[in-house]
Amino acid sequence: MTEILEQENLDALLVSSDENRFYLSGFTGSAGYFLITRTASQLVADGRYWNQVEEQCPDLGLVRFKLETHGNIGRAALTWLHQLGGIERVGIEGRNLTVSDYGILQKESQTLWNRDVLVVADGLPERLRECKDAEELARLQKAADTADEALREALKSFRKGVRENEFCAELEFQLQKHGARKPSFDSIVASGPNGARPHATISDRVIGEGELITLDFGSYCNSYCSDMTRTIWLGDLPELEQTVYRTVRAAHAAAIAAVRPGVLTRELDAVARNLITEAGFGEAFSHSLGHGVGLQVHEMPYLRSTTETVLEPGMVITIEPGIYLAGKTGCRVEDTVVVTADGGYSLNHTPYQELGQQHPLDAFA
Ligand code: ZN
Ligand code: ZN
Repeated sequence: MTEILEQENLDALLVSSDENRFYLSGFTGSAGYFLITRTASQLVADGRYWNQVEEQCPDLGLVRFKLETHGNIGRAALTWLHQLGGIERVGIEGRNLTVSDYGILQKESQTLWNRDVLVVADGLPERLRECKDAEELARLQKAADTADEALREALKSFRKGVRENEFCAELEFQLQKHGARKPSFDSIVASGPNGARPHATISDRVIGEGELITLDFGSYCNSYCSDMTRTIWLGDLPELEQTVYRTVRAAHAAAIAAVRPGVLTRELDAVARNLITEAGFGEAFSHSLGHGVGLQVHEMPYLRSTTETVLEPGMVITIEPGIYLAGKTGCRVEDTVVVTADGGYSLNHTPYQELGQQHPLDAFA
């Protein structure tokens, strides 16, 4: 982080997001500030977390924040920085601070420095988080494995007449039963015309035969997320649904095959998008190809038609092309892929249902 602070001409960074605080300190608490300067770092946390900090980060300094002593946590944090001396520019995470917390920090800055030392500096630890180390990859694999196992088990109750919300409840129950702390985001079970909304909310719609059902879900496990989408069905599919599914699968496979270091994120997006456009569904692929996955289910790098990030070994990205036809049907297939020295591999191992198979469990045979 020291190098990034120098590049950004910052003397300190006040880290307020849960994920960045955990990434930089190892502290898993859900509140507190982590302060990092070019020479020292410190956690600021209230009494609920003091024991936890000592257990999780015994070598890290701790400002034991007390309402009665400090008045507010912003003052406790800025006082520590002010006492260090030589701190003139303090980065803050604009995306993770409320307006009210920002107001408090500004006021305390005026009191201590007689001016505003705060600079909005978003996305700095996120740069470090883009490439995962072996320990992180192991946790991501574990999260993906629990999702694979949960889906296989849940599919035993996937039959004609089940409602979207019933199947969703079964899937999330199985996730927790297989080791997830919780789902990594609101699960999507979108059947028939509901599948035309990429981020459909769960309904009580009864699932029938011959329609596509999009399952997009993930497991949150040891602080890391998984993310996978499978489109499944019961019975035989009509012509349109078959074409849509075949096109998405081809785009998905082509993009995964193109993953390797040195490729630009926009180039990868284009691999999938061109195939879908050639099949006549260009307008119906209404979102970007994918995103990074790690401590957050959506994080850097983003795979958009406009992003120029160069893929590097250790990056973990989703490949998730889709086709959405309003009022009719929708389809998306998603895997989370690790970029390696010479290509990539998927963390997810749930097989794809093949055209002609009457039930998604047939794909496991
Ligand atoms: Zn997803
Ligand atoms: Zn995703």
